[in-house]
Amino acid sequence: MPSVLVMLALAGGWSWGCGGGGTADQETYWAKLRDDMVATQIAARGVRDATVLTALRTVPRHLFVPPEVRAEAYADHPLPIGEGQTISQPYIVGLMTELLEVKPGDRVLEIGTGSGYQAAVLAAMGCEVYTIEIRAALAHEADKRLVSLGYKNVHVRAGDGYAGWPDAAPFAGIVVTAAPERIPRPLLDQLAIGGHMVIPVGSFYQQLKVITRRGDKDFPESDVIPVRFVPMTGEVERRP
Ligand code: SAH
Repeated sequence: MPSVLVMLALAGGWSWGCGGGGTADQETYWAKLRDDMVATQIAARGVRDATVLTALRTVPRHLFVPPEVRAEAYADHPLPIGEGQTISQPYIVGLMTELLEVKPGDRVLEIGTGSGYQAAVLAAMGCEVYTIEIRAALAHEADKRLVSLGYKNVHVRAGDGYAGWPDAAPFAGIVVTAAPERIPRPLLDQLAIGGHMVIPVGSFYQQLKVITRRGDKDFPESDVIPVRFVPMTGEVERRP
């Protein structure tokens, strides 16, 4: 009776800690919410890539959000993760991940680690993930969380993602989960030929864009949907 379970959970009746060591019943409960999330919010809206859908069915999103909003972890909206930042709506994570068109073994750069959830989804797909978070406390927490959950193929760095991660470039995919008004040049330079960058661009009104690198200086782009992300801060705000 999922509806009763959800009510109990919302009423704060359960406290499952955050170590991930739930009982088999609890794990079955969360897994069912994840399956429903993928079916009704993500596949139903057109995300088809089986690798992406499988990853979304396995990553324990409830362990990436603060305990006070845990009961809503699989709901169809973003959630606060502290420091005024948010974890994206599940559908947006699914869509952005599919748009990257990456495969197991690919190196992927993420700007805006936040909770580490998007990075975990990419890691679950078998990608080698490099992720940068400007807020040191969030970076530290995400790193700890990813390690404790056993994601070995994620590298977390605290700092401004404006300059990317040149030592690990080029990347088959770059996903930016905070919105700049203009796309940072160094990130374009670190995209592999044939790779895709998925990025929200704008201030109040933002467009989710896919930029493909076709050649050294050939970067065709397309608009996907209007979105609402927290702003990208740091160096990008100071550049004309
Ligand atoms: N992908 C995250 C959600 C990110 S919210 C998740 O799955 O949980 C956007 C994050 O981008 C915030 O944590 C914010 O601090 C970070 N951010 C903003 N500007 C940044 C910058 N210049 N470099 C790196 N991270 C940045």
